[in-house]
Amino acid sequence: MRKMIFALLLTALFVVPVLAGKVNVAISGDDEEIQSYKKNRVTYISFSELVEILGGLIDWEEVGHKVSYKIDTSVFHFLLESAYFKLGDSIFNMTYPAELREGQLYLPVKTFAPFLDRVISDKVTWDQNKRLIRISSDYFNVADLTVVKKANGLLIEVFLTASLAYDVFVTEGNWVNISIRGGRINRTRVLSRLDRKLMYNLKVHQLAESGQVSLRMRHKITNWHHKLADNPPRIQISIADSDFEIEEKPRITPIGPDAKIDVIVIDPGHGGQDYGAIGKKGTREKDICLAIAKELAKIIRKDKQFKVVMTRDRDKTITLQERARIANESAADLFISIHANASLKDHVRGWNVFFLAPAKNDSARAVAQFENSVFLREHASINEPDENMFSEYYNNQILSILNEMIMTEFQEESQDFALMIDREFRRKLNIPARGVDQAGFYVLNSVYTPSVLVEAGFITNRKEEKIIASKSYRKKIAKAIYGAIKRFKDKYESH
Ligand SMILES: [Zn+2]
Repeated sequence: MRKMIFALLLTALFVVPVLAGKVNVAISGDDEEIQSYKKNRVTYISFSELVEILGGLIDWEEVGHKVSYKIDTSVFHFLLESAYFKLGDSIFNMTYPAELREGQLYLPVKTFAPFLDRVISDKVTWDQNKRLIRISSDYFNVADLTVVKKANGLLIEVFLTASLAYDVFVTEGNWVNISIRGGRINRTRVLSRLDRKLMYNLKVHQLAESGQVSLRMRHKITNWHHKLADNPPRIQISIADSDFEIEEKPRITPIGPDAKIDVIVIDPGHGGQDYGAIGKKGTREKDICLAIAKELAKIIRKDKQFKVVMTRDRDKTITLQERARIANESAADLFISIHANASLKDHVRGWNVFFLAPAKNDSARAVAQFENSVFLREHASINEPDENMFSEYYNNQILSILNEMIMTEFQEESQDFALMIDREFRRKLNIPARGVDQAGFYVLNSVYTPSVLVEAGFITNRKEEKIIASKSYRKKIAKAIYGAIKRFKDKYESH
């Protein structure tokens, strides 16, 4: 008997409580009901039933494994038991896994609703207290944003559903701010208009009384004006700028703000509270990175044609965003991030040079994941989903890590630069070559110039830990990188 009670208790402890119920869907004045259940306090809805209300098509690509959902031009791909799904070519995370139950696809409503909101033109919101999905088309009055290049500059248009009072002001750092009184901004739509060729940043601030859209443009804004246009109602901001010449022939993209390749930004990885990887003898990656970076700076500075900017020149904590900002604000022509690699396997050795592109293999992905992890930690909300999670998510472009928005603008030049470093390293370094590879590094993705990430060697290999911490290695690697910088300048500088 005792045993049986014990067994029952155990079952009670380990079986996940699942409570079935209904969720209401309010759509254009109508109320509908769909199946739902709660599992570990997470509300799941029958997505199959919601689709009957919303429209679109569910397709079981592989019964019991893969499901797709197509609505208008968007296609979702779900994997059962996985929290990751694909929307278009991007991978997203809805925190809790998709589930199959009684032949229907069930999704966690709170964390999935924001993604649905992205693709359908109506506003989709989840009200946890009322257990209600609200689908309303008239919620937003600031519907969209476009930024287009014109012959003599740029045209920014903010689309409204009715005429609204607004203000436009330009602030330091080439921010164009559009404040709309009573504006309710379709945030996901507007933020999806970030075009890295034209702007560094795009932000939406929703306040109770007003909404503000802020664009940080790439070019200096001196001459601009604005007006309210009709049919459809929209705010137009014209920026006149001689830098924008639409006629420009598709020759080699000029690098940096002028024809010269002379501003070199060196980024010693990690620092301060972020130690990076740690070697068997206690060598810290952050110290190695800084030592190599300082040596490199010293060598480049001897050559008066270059200007060196360091993202840090001492042991201090600095975010990945901050690093990118420094590079962009100093108008970098080349960006070099210095790191040391780590592996769980002691025998793994060698240097790597990475350039930014979607990772092609697991080991490159693992390196990117480690180097990006600081960024993930800075945005730890990823493990605690809440209402703000998704806006944070988008704001900080965390999704770029998941291969979205991998900047391809300077991919070719970055790869070329990586290959130049590779050639120098093979000649000058006394540790094995792992060669050039590509991966999605957050720090590189936010820098608008050719950029590479150098892994100087493995700090987790006893032999290499000693080598990469030595002064002689530091000198060799710095000289090799400097050699590649000169080659790059020769090849890409417009004469
Ligand atoms: Zn690192």
